[in-house]
Amino acid sequence: MPRCNSGADLMQGLNDDPDYPPSWYAATAQSGPPAPPLDGDVQCDVCIIGGGYTGLGAALRLAQAGIAVRLIDQARIGWGASGRNGGQAHVGQRRDPEWLERAVGPDDARHLWRIAIDARDHLDRLIADHGIACDFTPGLFHVDHKRRYCAHSRAAVERLRTHYDYPHVDYVDGEQLAEMLGARGYHGGILDRRGGHLHPLNLALGMARAAYAAGARLHERTRATGLARATGGWRVTTDRGTISAARVILAGNGYLHGLSRPVEARVMPINNYIAVTEPLGEARARSLIRDNVAVSDSRFVVYYFRLTPDHRLLFGGGENYRWRFPADIPGFVRPHMLRVFPQLADARLEYGWGGTLAITPTRMPFVRDLEPGLTAIGGYSGLGVVLAPYFGKLIGDAIVAGSDDFNRLTRLPVPPFPGGRWLRWPTLVAAMSMFALRDRL
Ligand SMILES: Cc1cc2nc3c(=O)[nH]c(=O)nc-3n(C[C@H](O)[C@H](O)[C@H](O)COP(=O)(O)OP(=O)(O)OC[C@H]3O[C@@H](n4cnc5c(N)ncnc54)[C@H](O)[C@@H]3O)c2cc1C
Repeated sequence: MPRCNSGADLMQGLNDDPDYPPSWYAATAQSGPPAPPLDGDVQCDVCIIGGGYTGLGAALRLAQAGIAVRLIDQARIGWGASGRNGGQAHVGQRRDPEWLERAVGPDDARHLWRIAIDARDHLDRLIADHGIACDFTPGLFHVDHKRRYCAHSRAAVERLRTHYDYPHVDYVDGEQLAEMLGARGYHGGILDRRGGHLHPLNLALGMARAAYAAGARLHERTRATGLARATGGWRVTTDRGTISAARVILAGNGYLHGLSRPVEARVMPINNYIAVTEPLGEARARSLIRDNVAVSDSRFVVYYFRLTPDHRLLFGGGENYRWRFPADIPGFVRPHMLRVFPQLADARLEYGWGGTLAITPTRMPFVRDLEPGLTAIGGYSGLGVVLAPYFGKLIGDAIVAGSDDFNRLTRLPVPPFPGGRWLRWPTLVAAMSMFALRDRL
């Protein structure tokens, strides 16, 4: 049974060195802005805990408004999920409109869809306004690994086009799919031309450069160890000094341990793994994914893959529900990759790494004002590349001038995981293992 570790133990378990994992992203990363560890005791308006897309999005928005911001990360900028993910830019919420309509009603479902479209537009602006070179490439293909899912995909396309005014999706049948992908085991899917893929760590570093240029102070290798109410707001204790601030934003996502019980009750860390092949050459790479789109499938434990600009296959697949990563990550991912691309049996895997994402019971993000001046935001459940930078901006909007969209997000139903703080893990492991088993049936 997994232990409920403290943050320090967890970091020790996942990565002895608080530097970037040995990923293809780290090997091709641009430079970040100055971000020295905190040195002593400081004051500011807003302290942000977490240097991923959420924290950086908030830091950028707040600094642009002239607010004194300090952002800390226990490791590096983009060290968490934001610098390790599949780079797949999905459009929409983690739940499809049909689910949302049932859960929150048609009106709120439409608002949530509009927020997701705003988030997608925001990504374009972010990249263009700040000149972030993160290789954004358009096109995302959701593929069905079971024939019986195809009818649902066809209906989803129809619904998006007619009810949600979203003409950017097409249903692709099995015959067309076979021309587009050299992948085994798929029967049809949805091609979303507004989706895409990008270099996630370079997106995070670009956002950090923009936030720094706007006036935010960033501190890497600075871990928040405690949080207490203080005169005029909050005091954040770190291993490098203290930060007194009127407001605190908890943006630690799957890595935030021991700082907030309400967050831990609702936001659960899950490990997921990626491997990258040796360069395959353009022709062989394009025989796998003809149009260089991102691909993600319908499995409960999703397989997702795409090409890199240097013609490698980047393949994500396989989760485990332990704290520690497998010792041989490429070896862990390899069987999953070969199930989809058996023709890659001779391809060397040159990189492999793991990351921790955060899920909630409803798979909708947990956005809450926990107490006056203390806001938590995270739990994108595997869909943060587009949403997290924007949700970070929205919390900035809320602080600067108020935001109806932010308020709407705080009303999303996100109950605690069953089992409470200590039993949620075994309960979740049992449930996740059962769903993962269903993928194979
Ligand atoms: C392997 C993997 C693949 C994924 N693939 C995709 C994908 O293809 N598409 C997609 O949309 N989403 C994907 N995701 C999810 C996506 O990466 C996340 O939703 C998103 O990055 C969340 O950003 P964030 O800023 O909220 O959290 P994070 O990026 O995890 O940042 C949290 C940061 O907080 C810091 N922190 C935590 N606690 C403390 C503390 N006490 N003191 C100081 N710092 C602290 C951590 O060091 C970390 O850097 C994937 C995630 C993983 C792990």
